[in-house]
Amino acid sequence: MKYTQLDIAPTISSLLGFEIPDKDGREIKEIGAYCADKSIDQILLIVVDGVGAALYKKLDGALAQLQALSDDGLFFEIHSLPPRITTPNIGTILTGYAPEHHLLYKVADTFYTPVRSILEIASDNGIKSGIVIELLGAKAMLNRVDLAIGVENLHGIIDYDRRITDLALKAFSLEGIRLLMIHLRAIDNCAHHYATAWDDFAFSARTIDKNFERICRGLCRPTLILVTSDHPIHVKKWAHLEDNNADVPLIASYLNVATGPNKRE
Ligand SMILES: [Zn+2]
Repeated sequence: MKYTQLDIAPTISSLLGFEIPDKDGREIKEIGAYCADKSIDQILLIVVDGVGAALYKKLDGALAQLQALSDDGLFFEIHSLPPRITTPNIGTILTGYAPEHHLLYKVADTFYTPVRSILEIASDNGIKSGIVIELLGAKAMLNRVDLAIGVENLHGIIDYDRRITDLALKAFSLEGIRLLMIHLRAIDNCAHHYATAWDDFAFSARTIDKNFERICRGLCRPTLILVTSDHPIHVKKWAHLEDNNADVPLIASYLNVATGPNKRE
């Protein structure tokens, strides 16, 4: 059976050695097997907003660093769950519950919820966890995880993504975070606000790829990097770029600065 966004949180929980109660997803066994002979100090989960599996393939050269990570690791096309909107779909990725189970449809829903994400369960199990996300999302997570950093989009989305990336590296190196989730938004923002042609998507993807380069250079400890997306493009004008495909990519790649010419093992 094909994997879905429900399976990401159970895979992380299995790697970190704890259970998600009543989860709807299941562990992705291939990732467990891939990690079995590796020493993993920390896990970085990156949600790239609004990139379906079809668009990901079309962006080929514009996401060269991400594709190098994929070539070194594992690549899956996983099913994205309806409604394919940012908040509920990130809710699914972080909880392992279907939307009708987690009920996180709007950002306001994330403030007062009995549902615990994998970040909170990790923290309760003594595994320092954090999130670097837009300001309101981070506010919702305050006091529920070890580190919640909010970033405001004050100087454009490219600057925003770069700040998110910088703060992610600091969270690992300065705060000893062992499970971190970040959200990079340039491609979705481009689809919603300024895309007039394909080149705009390629440009946005290259700005995201620069952040992957900085992550690969900047991580100091052996890290499992998981990269996925919340939904394929959902802006009607550009939906054709996804070829009627509701899948999103999932990349699992191990990065160890201590080994390998490209800092990868
Ligand atoms: Zn989104």
